Amino acid sequence: MAKKQEAKKQEFPAPPEHTAVPNLPCSACGSQRRTPDVQTNEAEYAGLDQGKPFTHIVWLQSQCSDCGQTRMKRVFEDRTKKPAPQSDEP
Ligand SMILES: [Zn+2]
Repeated sequence: MAKKQEAKKQEFPAPPEHTAVPNLPCSACGSQRRTPDVQTNEAEYAGLDQGKPFTHIVWLQSQCSDCGQTRMKRVFEDRTKKPAPQSDEP
């Protein structure tokens, strides 16, 4: 049985930048539990974040699951790279 050995690269695009942002504990109670991030705003603004170019600023909001403290997080996204051509949709 011939087994093909192909070095397959991941075909899905890289995850968005904000997945790399660490979840810091709640500033009010120190809890690590919080609701998922919800995007509240975004701005088309280009610049550099720690040497990496970005094209948009995105604001994310979540709440502490224990005390309800609202947390805002700002992430920088580089949207210059177009996603791979879609094959599923016309
Ligand atoms: Zn809290």
